[in-house]
Amino acid sequence: MDGQIRRSAYEVALAQYDEAVALMNLPDDVVEFMRYPKRELTVNFPVRMDNGHIRMFTGFRVHHTTVRGPTKGGIRYHPEVTLEETRALAMWMTWKCALMNLPYGGAKGGVIVDPYTLSDEELCRLTRRYATEISILMSPEGDIPAPDVGTNPQVMAWIMDTYSMHRGYSVPAVVTGKPVQIGGSHGRYDATGLGVMFMAREAMKRLNMPIQGATVAVQGFGNVGSFAAHYMHLQGAKVIAVSDVRGGIYNPHGLDIPALERYVKETRTVVGFPGADAITNAELLELPCDVLIPAALEGQITRENAPRVKARIIAEGANGPTTPNADKILQDKGVFVIPDILCNAGGVTVSYFEWVQSLQSFFWSEQDVKRQLERLMVDSFNAVMHEAETRKLPLRMAAYTVAIGRVAEAIILRGVYP
Ligand code: NAD
Repeated sequence: MDGQIRRSAYEVALAQYDEAVALMNLPDDVVEFMRYPKRELTVNFPVRMDNGHIRMFTGFRVHHTTVRGPTKGGIRYHPEVTLEETRALAMWMTWKCALMNLPYGGAKGGVIVDPYTLSDEELCRLTRRYATEISILMSPEGDIPAPDVGTNPQVMAWIMDTYSMHRGYSVPAVVTGKPVQIGGSHGRYDATGLGVMFMAREAMKRLNMPIQGATVAVQGFGNVGSFAAHYMHLQGAKVIAVSDVRGGIYNPHGLDIPALERYVKETRTVVGFPGADAITNAELLELPCDVLIPAALEGQITRENAPRVKARIIAEGANGPTTPNADKILQDKGVFVIPDILCNAGGVTVSYFEWVQSLQSFFWSEQDVKRQLERLMVDSFNAVMHEAETRKLPLRMAAYTVAIGRVAEAIILRGVYP
């Protein structure tokens, strides 16, 4: 909770946008243009469940802007998905793509569902119906989905297959994050977590903190959190705590990450991992550690808990984990916050590589993908640091002003139709 009333993710996204544009010298009408999502689709659709009954589901797809290219953004399956949240996530995707200089605008999609309560067959039918419902917006040239919370390469494979069945031929470039066997990219699955490690490593270099032996806490042990933990561990850091929706585990001497990965594969949770104490998600955020990686959902670090955060670096694996009020508190405390649109951009960057490969039917090696990812991310990190240092801005505002400036430039160059 941030204050009395929890601010929605979209209110947070708008507050961040307003703060950034106030630092820029942009025409008022261009500022107004970028404040709005371009289009929003709500779909209510039936799915036949295994018991033979039909259940109605609601889903969304939002495009924030198309001025820099087709829209790109993940699809979330989570019980708390809302249109407002999807709108915020689409806007954040716009800034992320612009910051990484990818030729995309932002989008996001979601379905209100807890995917872990469905059978594989139900999940497949839900995905195929949702893909059909949003296919009026989706295409390799227009809007390219990817995985997010609660979705994975298998879900992307079903979306790609559904779209291809409607077309009558295979269209691998319609989604990214699909399995390598059907045109996915090497290095996509772990790209976001790997990118988080690159960014934490660069921040530590700036602060003269050795990564070897550094203590790390990770909230969320899904795609982003588990690979962030994996790569921090490979770099010699000590991952002392991790969590998932069911709770967290803590061992101040460091968790055995390869053993934990095997445990999670079997049990589907980190809870109960031998040799660690149980902690809550809230406690994890306040642990003494060098690097805190929030990699679950929005609005986790707030005005209430920010004063108790002890990490020196926060590497935002999740989208929107820190509220604007918390940002100010962390800034006063001198915490080095690597903003989400930079820190977790590894996923969309390799998604871009995947899209290019799918369009060309020409595939890169894993080594090439990882090398290019590291280069683009380190370049963007340095660009944000340069902006922050020359304009004396916090890193989030530095990242936003670079990104928003690029989108504004595209709007001015293209002009307003008609
Ligand atoms: P995921 O579904 O693979 O994992 C989410 C994790 O968060 C799981 O461990 C889940 O148990 C946990 N979780 C869910 N609800 C929670 C709650 N209320 N409290 C604590 N933990 C909770 O999702 P992901 O793809 O790893 O995405 C995580 C975050 O990273 C999201 O904010 C997402 O938007 C962002 N992100 C993902 C990607 C990507 O490539 N997958 C890219 C950029 C950003």
